[in-house]
Amino acid sequence: MTERLQAPRGTFDVLPEDWDARTALEHRARDLLESAGYRRIETPAFEATELFARGVGEATDIVQKEMYSFDDGGGRSLTLRPEGTAPISRAYMEHGMHKLPAPVKLWYLGPFFRHERAQAGRYRQFWQVGAEALGSDDPALDAELIVLLHTLLDELGVRDLRLLLSSLGQPGAREAYRDQLKEYLHAHADRLSSDVRARIDLNPLRAFDADHPGTREVMKDAPRLIDHLDAADAEHFAHVRALLDKADIAYEIDPTLVRGLDYYTRTVFEFTSEALGAQSGVGGGGRYDGLVQMLGGPPTAGVGWAAGIERMLLAGAEAPHGAAPVELFVALDDGGRREDAFATVVAARRAGLHAEMELAGRSLKGQLKQADRLGARYVAILRAQEAELRDMSSAEQEPVVPDEGEDAVSPEAIVSAALRGLRGVA
Ligand code: ATP
Ligand code: MG
Repeated sequence: MTERLQAPRGTFDVLPEDWDARTALEHRARDLLESAGYRRIETPAFEATELFARGVGEATDIVQKEMYSFDDGGGRSLTLRPEGTAPISRAYMEHGMHKLPAPVKLWYLGPFFRHERAQAGRYRQFWQVGAEALGSDDPALDAELIVLLHTLLDELGVRDLRLLLSSLGQPGAREAYRDQLKEYLHAHADRLSSDVRARIDLNPLRAFDADHPGTREVMKDAPRLIDHLDAADAEHFAHVRALLDKADIAYEIDPTLVRGLDYYTRTVFEFTSEALGAQSGVGGGGRYDGLVQMLGGPPTAGVGWAAGIERMLLAGAEAPHGAAPVELFVALDDGGRREDAFATVVAARRAGLHAEMELAGRSLKGQLKQADRLGARYVAILRAQEAELRDMSSAEQEPVVPDEGEDAVSPEAIVSAALRGLRGVA
């Protein structure tokens, strides 16, 4: 026997029963973000590899080991997008959005790709919803975005939510701090994991992210960036915190929060949910004031977040689901013609009804059972010259009256009768 093909590891099919919850999430996100002035954008599923190498950072986990890169056949390397901020910054420049009144507020929802070890809540193709605001470094934008994600997670019923907050400062202060941290790490290199040790000079901040017990011990006493912010960065951070206090959003300052992307400056944050176990991050983001310039554009401030759809659904309240009930089911009895049934469903759908017809050759009894399974309100039973309309809730059955001057019952007459019943008109 030939081996049966399956979806690739780390991917999944979004089945019909999964869509109610996903659609509800999408509509919530859209309503919430659009009423705060964010407008939807969608960038291509793949981009030049260099966009991520430069934008996300050569030293990050994403660029070092998680990208799906391929040659496009013409010697150019492309990469399935692992995240949305670099592509949106690219699009912002490409479409001259820096000439628009600031801030430019954008949101997105779509699939992303990372070559990771697949497990619950961690996939190789997953969906994110995200929001970005470009062109302003006002701390009110950082706070606004955090409040929006908090509201979304709250509305979705995400359980045991925590907000971790920190500031990474700006490149100057960060460079000075990095040197200090490198020195500290080199002095304690023998107790670090080999992975962290190998990257001391490339990305010392990653050491804060490590699970390795020895490394964690060492990091307890490591110098903290948050204690080395310059005056302007410290003031920006204080503003963001004051605004979150005003909005009654609880947070914990976590000086070890580094996030996996190189482009962050100043504010960084992450929402976690205990409900997720090991993969506890549901969404996060931060400010990235240097990113657009790093990609060859003008100096541009930016701040944003991304949240994983699957993790939000895993950690959220169960959404009610089930197909919308059928309003009219068209059945065939002796003498009834399939083409009339077809014309009737078409007329019913044109009138805005959810209509279905018999398509599996069932007996009349079987058809009524099928209509019941579909939750049908009415069943039209077609015979040679006449038709009856059955009210499924009362089991009452009445003949459909032909239009004036006609012998046979037309599809329109059946639809009118069903509409009268659905609207409660006798
Ligand atoms: P993690 O620490 O779990 O690896 P991350 O820091 O790499 O997450 P981000 O790049 O900040 O995640 O992406 C934002 C959100 O996207 C995450 O909080 C998570 O909900 C979701 N996400 C990231 N990677 C995956 C994945 N491989 N599968 C499913 N969801 C993911
Ligand atoms: Mg990751």
